[in-house]
Amino acid sequence: MITVVGSYNLDMTFKLNHFPIPGETVFAQEVRVGHGGKGSNQAVSASRLGARARFVGAVGNDANGKNAINFLSSEGVDTSCVRVKNAHTGSAYILLNGGGETMIVVNRGANYELTPEDLDGCLEGKVLLTQLEIREDVVKRALSGFSGIRILNPAPAELNDVEILNYVDILTPNEVEFQEISNSDDMSYGAQILLKRVKRAVIVTLGENGAIIYTKSKSVRIPTIKVNPVDTTGAGDVFNAALAVFLERDYDLETAVEKANIIASYSVTTYGALGPTWKEIKEKYPEI
Ligand code: ATP
Repeated sequence: MITVVGSYNLDMTFKLNHFPIPGETVFAQEVRVGHGGKGSNQAVSASRLGARARFVGAVGNDANGKNAINFLSSEGVDTSCVRVKNAHTGSAYILLNGGGETMIVVNRGANYELTPEDLDGCLEGKVLLTQLEIREDVVKRALSGFSGIRILNPAPAELNDVEILNYVDILTPNEVEFQEISNSDDMSYGAQILLKRVKRAVIVTLGENGAIIYTKSKSVRIPTIKVNPVDTTGAGDVFNAALAVFLERDYDLETAVEKANIIASYSVTTYGALGPTWKEIKEKYPEI
C-alpha cells in the first residue's frame, strides 16, 4: 500500500480578460471547478496506476468535504483516515488572465487542522508520500513514524524545520524548489548538502528534460520522452505518484524514475492534473 499524507483543496479556476485592480469587479469568461491539493492528487494518481492508495488528510464538515470523500472513494482511494474537521474544506481560487499568468489565493482551511495525533493507526504500507501543504509537525510525524520508503515532495518549498529531512529517504523537488531548499544554484553541490540529511537520494525533476538522481556516490540524468504538452499542471504530482508506485513494485531507483518520467510526460499531453490509468499507459506504452 502507498500512504499519502497531505492536502485536499477544491480548485476553482476563473478565466479572465484581465486581473481586477483593487475595487474593480470583473466577470469570468469561464470557470472550472475540480478536485486538487497535492496530497489528494498524488493519492488518486497512484490509485489510477493500480496501487492500493490511502489518503490521510482532513476536510471540512461541509458539502465540499463530503464531495471530496466521495470523489476519493470513487477513484478507489482508501479514505478510512480522512478526518472531518470543524472548518471549511481547503480551497484554491486561481485567476488566469489572457496572457496565461495566474494569481492564486489558497484557504488552507481543514488541511491546517490535521494534527500529528490524527495519524495514529494510519501510517501503514510500503511507501509513504507527503508534501508541504500541511503543517510541518504533521509532516515530521508522518515521516518519523513510518517504517517503509519515505518520499517527501517539498512543495511548496517552504521548510522551516530542516530536521524533517533527517527522516526522508527520497526528496523530490522541481528545479525551483531545489534552489530554495538547498539555498544553492549549483545542483551537485546543493544535492550533496541535502544528502547530509536525506538518506538515499535527491531527485530533481526538470520538466521536458526529465529528472536527475543524486545519491552520495553519483548522479544520473534520466531523460524523458518527447511529447506535445497541452497542460503541464500537476506533472509533478503524477511523477511523484508514479515513482511511489514503481518503488512499491520493487523496481530500482533508476528504473522507477525512467518509468515515472514516461507516465508524467504522457500526462502533460492531456488536460487535468490526475494522470492516466495503468490501462491507458499500457495501451500507449506496452513495454513499460
Ligand atoms: P507542476 O508544478 O506543473 O506539477 P513540477 O514543476 O512539479 O510540475 P516538472 O519538473 O515540471 O514538475 O515535471 C515533472 C515531470 O513531468 C518531469 O520530470 C517530466 O517527467 C514530466 N514533464 C513535465 N513537463 C514536461 C514536458 N513539457 N515534456 C515532457 N515531460 C514533461
